[in-house]
This record gives sequence, C-alpha cells and structure tokens, in this order.
Amino acid sequence: MSINVALDGPSGAGKSTIARAASERLKYLYVDTGAMYRAVAFYVLSKGLNPENKDEVVGALAGISIELKYTEQGQRIILNGEDVSDSIRTPEISMAASAVSAISETREFLLSLQKNLAKENNVIMDGRDIATVVLPNADVKIFLTASAETRAKRRYDELVQKGESVTYEEVLNDVNQRDYNDIHRDVAPLRQADDAILVDSSALTLDESIDKVVEVIENKIKAKKVSAREIPEVQPVVKGARPPLWKRICHEFLRLIAKAIYHTYLDLSFEGLENVPKDGSNIFASNHRSYTDPILISLKPKVMFSFMAKEELFEKNIFFTILIKLFGAFPVVRGSGGKQSIETSLERLNKGYNLVIFPEGTRSKDGKVLKGKTGVALVAAIAQVPVIPTGIVFEGKIKFRRKVTVKFGKPVIPSEIGVDSCENKKVKHLRNEIMASITELVEGKSDESEQENVNKL
Ligand code: C5P
Repeated sequence: MSINVALDGPSGAGKSTIARAASERLKYLYVDTGAMYRAVAFYVLSKGLNPENKDEVVGALAGISIELKYTEQGQRIILNGEDVSDSIRTPEISMAASAVSAISETREFLLSLQKNLAKENNVIMDGRDIATVVLPNADVKIFLTASAETRAKRRYDELVQKGESVTYEEVLNDVNQRDYNDIHRDVAPLRQADDAILVDSSALTLDESIDKVVEVIENKIKAKKVSAREIPEVQPVVKGARPPLWKRICHEFLRLIAKAIYHTYLDLSFEGLENVPKDGSNIFASNHRSYTDPILISLKPKVMFSFMAKEELFEKNIFFTILIKLFGAFPVVRGSGGKQSIETSLERLNKGYNLVIFPEGTRSKDGKVLKGKTGVALVAAIAQVPVIPTGIVFEGKIKFRRKVTVKFGKPVIPSEIGVDSCENKKVKHLRNEIMASITELVEGKSDESEQENVNKL
C-alpha cells in the first residue's frame, strides 16, 4: 500500500518548496495540486474567458486535459500536450487559480487525477483540501502555515528575483485576498483537518522547515509501523475441548431451573435453532436488552456458555457471585484496554465454552440496534471461530408474560468472508457483517412502537 502525506496550508507558506525537498529526501512523488488549478486558470485566461464566471469556467473544462510528468526538473504540468509549468507562476494566474478553484465542478474535475496519483504512488501532495477532501485517510497530515506578512515577504522576494515589477503591499494584498477566498469559499474551504499536525514556518528558515516536515513524516510513519506490528496474530481455536464435567452438571441443573422460571414468567420462544452449533467454542453476538440476556441466550443451546460481566457485579454478594460464575460469567476489569477481556475470551473458547458477547457494549434503550464495537470481531478473527448472530426481541410493555423471541441467525464464519487475519480492515468487515445480521434479526420483524421502557425483565 502506498504512503500518502497530505500537506495543506495557505498560499505562500512554502508548501511547494518544502514538499518538493521533503519528497526528494524521502523518495516520494511530489504532487503539486495548486499547479493543476493554475493550469485550469491558464487555459481559461488563454481563451479570453472570465475565471470568476462559473458558466464560462465550467464550459471550458471539457476542453482541458491535464497530465503530470516527472522529469529531472521535477514535476512538470502538461496542459493539452503543452508544458505550461513555467507560465503558470504569475500573480495574474495566482488570482485566477484562486477563482476557478472556488467552483465545485473544477474541483471534481481534478479530484480523480489527484486520488489516482495517491493510490499508485507514495506521495506528498500539497494543496488546500488534501487532508480534508482529497485524501481524508492520508497516513500523515500536515498543516503548514506562516503569518501573512512573512508569506508576502517571501513571495515578494521570489517575484523580484524573477524580474517582476511588484510592490510588497500589492503582494500582501494578494496574499490576504487569496487567504480570504480560500477560507470563505463554499466548496472545500481551507481549514486545518482535526488530525493534522500544525507546522508554523514563520520563525523557521527554509532548511529548518524542510527538516521539521521530514521529521514529522518520519515519526508518524514509524509510529504507524509500530502500531501495525501490534496487530494480534491469528491463533485458531482447536475445537473439541469441553469444560470440566462438574461444571457442566451444575450448569445443566441451573439451566433447567432457569428454563422453568423463564418459560413461566415470559412468553418465550426461540427461532433459528438449526443455526446453533452442537459443539462448543462459538461466539454468540447479540443485541443487548436486559441484564439477564446471557441467561436468556444460554437456555436453549446445550453447550456451556461464558460471558463477560462488569467487575462490580462480582462484588455484590457471595451467592450472587457463585450464581453468575456458575452461569459462566467472568469479570472484565475496566480500563484494561480490552486486552484482558480478549485474553480471557480466547482462554474460554479454547476450553470449549461458547461465548456471549454484546458488541453494542451497552443496553439499547429503545430496542434499536446500536453501533457495534470491534471487540467481538477481533476475538472471532484471532480465534477463527464461527459467530452466531443473535437477536433478542421484546414485544409489548407489560413485563409478566411478555412475548420475547430469541433469534439465532446463520453463523458468520470469518474465513468464509475473507477474514483470515486481524488486519483492521478485515476485522471491521467482520464486525459489519455481524452487526448487519443482528440488525436484520432484531429490526426485520420487531414492532418499534412497542419497544419503549422494556429494558429490564
Ligand atoms: O498552491 P498554489 O498557490 O499554487 O495554488 C493556486 C490556487 O489554487 C490557490 O490560491 C488555491 O485557491 C487553489 N488551490 C485549491 N486547492 C488545492 C490547491 C490549490 O483550491 N488543493
């Protein structure tokens, strides 16, 4: 996968010079998106059109073909077959580029070119909206800025060196005007992305600015590699283990008692029992309606269950603790970052228990399925065990003899949907599949109007 660095900031912050130098050092491709807008502006002006006139600019786009070429002189911008790299750096083109870039059709026109370059190469792409619009998933996002006066002074010196006759005040006015346009336009306005790192070059020399940007990129990539290495390895569970006999006997005894109580108290039914595996080491991922959900789910399948419960529940009283432990509860220590619960889950699966996990993390107040967390998918991906989506549906408001249906969906088997590692993308895909199934089970038939105030059994 290619590495993408997004470098945004206002005009004259030194983006192109710094990005070019940094990409040479890092051996990335430098993509100057400003040059693309300038090429559009160049074409519009060369046709005698008004860059402020949306219809004229949009009409002109069909006649434009832009390519980037990389030569020994660096990036060259080719407009309809002609190298215009040197002709697009005048103040007139700068203002016209600012105007055409405020038109959404112009931005869309250039977007796919920009995205494709980033897909195929390691790039440092500079512009105004790279981190926010073009490459929102960039590996590194930098917002490079400097005071308007510093930027105007730098641009002024550059233009004077080129032999242009301008005054500092004119350049400063231009800088302020373009800042205003870029910040206040409706489409893709200039703003620092929330996750971008700010680099202010006002007090830095050019070399210091380059060093700083390279340092930021290298540190960020290093950190990414370290966290990538932390992706857990797949440790497939070997099926066939069974919890100790005495536990199974106790559990069976409790299950029969609970069954009698639940069937008396509730109008309880089960659907999709053909989807429940006969052996253990499976995960039942369910929506969460009441504290007693784990018991509800474990009434029917004969294999012993294990489920996570808040540590505090084990401190209530000794009898309650024994009871929930016999039902397979294990404590989750808050603030352990999920590591401890993943380890315990894996240990339980390896011992042949089925696990009940509530991916929503909390009980749903109105019965609607909430957004799922990735924990359940991560455990399933590490252990490579089937996940049985489970939906608990309450109907009616009166608690006694309330109609409750527990629905078991078709098992989601990680390897069958391409989840053969714990890569972030794959784990998220597994989570989405599980949540989609649970939602279908719960919301497919449930009557939402009747699902208020039914949190507790
Ligand atoms: O960076 P440069 O000054 O060459 O950009 C020319 C103009 O193109 C800027 O004033 C800005 O309005 C526009 N631009 C943009 N989005 C980008 C790059 C440049 O709107 N990604």
